[in-house]
Amino acid sequence: MQDSQASGRKANADGAAGSAYILRELAVAASDPNPDLAGAIAAFLRIKRSKVGAVRILRKSLDSRKRNQPLWRYSLEFEFAGELKHPKVARADAQGDVPSLPDQSPAGGYRPVGRRVAVIGSGPAGMGAAMGLARKGYRVTVFEQGSEVGKRFHDIRKFLKGNVFNPHSNILFGEGGAGTFSDGKLTCRTRTRFTETFLKELVASGAEADIVYLSHPHIGTDKLQFIVKAWRERCVALGCEFRFNTPVESILTDGGRISGVTVAGAAEPFDALVLAAGHSSRPLYRRLAELGVAMDRKPFSVGVRVEHPQAMVNRRQLGERVDASLTGAAEYYLTYNGEAEGHSAYSFCMCPGGVVVPCADADDGLFTNGMSYSNRAGAFANSAVVVPVTPADLDELAASRWPLAVRGPASVAGTSAGAASAPAGTSADPFGMGPPVLAGLDFIRDLEAKAYELGGGGFVFPAQTIKAYLEDRVDDLPAPRTSFAKPVKWVNLRPLFPPKIAAALQESFRNFDRKLPGFIEQGLIIGPESRTSSPVRILRDPISLQSVSTPGLFPLGEGAGYSGGIVSSGADGFRLADGWDIWDAESVCA
Ligand SMILES: Cc1cc2nc3c(=O)[nH]c(=O)nc-3n(C[C@H](O)[C@H](O)[C@H](O)COP(=O)(O)OP(=O)(O)OC[C@H]3O[C@@H](n4cnc5c(N)ncnc54)[C@H](O)[C@@H]3O)c2cc1C
Repeated sequence: MQDSQASGRKANADGAAGSAYILRELAVAASDPNPDLAGAIAAFLRIKRSKVGAVRILRKSLDSRKRNQPLWRYSLEFEFAGELKHPKVARADAQGDVPSLPDQSPAGGYRPVGRRVAVIGSGPAGMGAAMGLARKGYRVTVFEQGSEVGKRFHDIRKFLKGNVFNPHSNILFGEGGAGTFSDGKLTCRTRTRFTETFLKELVASGAEADIVYLSHPHIGTDKLQFIVKAWRERCVALGCEFRFNTPVESILTDGGRISGVTVAGAAEPFDALVLAAGHSSRPLYRRLAELGVAMDRKPFSVGVRVEHPQAMVNRRQLGERVDASLTGAAEYYLTYNGEAEGHSAYSFCMCPGGVVVPCADADDGLFTNGMSYSNRAGAFANSAVVVPVTPADLDELAASRWPLAVRGPASVAGTSAGAASAPAGTSADPFGMGPPVLAGLDFIRDLEAKAYELGGGGFVFPAQTIKAYLEDRVDDLPAPRTSFAKPVKWVNLRPLFPPKIAAALQESFRNFDRKLPGFIEQGLIIGPESRTSSPVRILRDPISLQSVSTPGLFPLGEGAGYSGGIVSSGADGFRLADGWDIWDAESVCA
């Protein structure tokens, strides 16, 4: 029963049905692959081993602060025959499980009176909303521009091996959203009953049970595809309809309220629209701007993806004598805060034993990300090193006329959303491309287009060693050893970035090398990393999650600016479903 959850409460070895207690922060040597947790509890509390019954793991995290002596720290719920008084233990009575949402749909499918709800996007936010709303009896149609997950794998393989790019079905777009081809890291800063529900539904769709209690759980790309498919099948069983390869071309309103969407040139009526399109759907953002939907700029970050040998990271983080197969490949979290220079940077989305992923959502731009397989056994560790960009930074860049590549909005086939309304180059249109609220999107787009040009076209990615970056020169080396699947070209990446960002990256590399020796010497950069989070927030009511300007519109997930990652996005979907009755009663935004 060690790393799996014990089912129910049992009598312990002494025969008496016990009470449940919780012990937090029990340290167990990571060198033991199969620890006797009941024995460890008994030894720690100085009680009889035979009086400890079923043990359930609530939380498990790696503590590697002591080199060469990593520990697992457990929070455990356990049965004990009799009364137990110890300063380190508490009665478990108050700690209930977070239940899954109750299934309210009739056996035959959706509630006939239910309203028609369109969900744009089958990423974690859209999938969470679809499941939650279908369970409440609504008629849910999920529109996904990309392919179902099996076909999506083929589309991606064609891109990786044959350079055939599909703008609708790629590493960002398609069933499961951006998360499907991710590391599947399920870390989340804030745990709520909605994050718990999302994690439990992942388990019900085939994920390992330990994701619920590990402090740094991850699934891996190889497993995610099956989980995503099973999730969809569970939604279909609840009455949801999925329409793949179906980009929503436009959003329709009537008297300021959502009235439907345009798909394949035809209008389709809906009573409500859940917008869970991720942060890369530029045509939809532009359509929202045209409709006057309330949005605001928000900070985001850009930078590069760095890669190092995993063995170097293991040695530094765990120690020379630790068997990483027992602890898992080591991670790192690095921050640099150069207050005097007004710079900061941080590592983000670290993928131990992972691969650097080539990304694109237009045929003349590129950027990177990272993923790993479930065993994280690859030879390399990668992470993004990124620098925050605020709305004020964008204003500064616009005022200094930072030389952006001059081009129109990204060409995404099959979408008809309108272009900018303000005249290019005016103060209302600082980057010459779109309304000011979307300036962050244009900045990102520009960075990606310039990176494409730097690589020389044809999705050859720009690369540089960290050493050469610090010396402001192009490498003169054979092709690098890397996990990266596409060709790279040695370039100087510094001029890609505005000087403040380039300098912050430089200082962060020096700072990180002091914390993780070898960071400079053994570091490879592939860039840019530009899709860390949305530069836009679509303003919504905090309770109903309805747009503050447009009744019937429910912006969700990362693209709406309310989540940053798989778990928080999925949880946002369940949160919407939870508060849906408020919308149903039309008590908000009437
Ligand atoms: C390679 C990679 C690795 C990542 N690794 C991790 C990780 O390990 N852990 C983590 O927490 N996060 C990770 N992320 C981020 C995570 O994937 C996102 O935070 C999360 O997927 C956001 O969920 P979402 O539902 O809001 O949007 P998305 O997942 O982006 O889903 C949006 C969906 O909407 C669809 N769509 C957009 N426009 C339209 C339209 N007009 N019509 C129809 N459909 C449309 C898109 O095709 C897409 O499938 C990673 C991202 C990438 C790209």
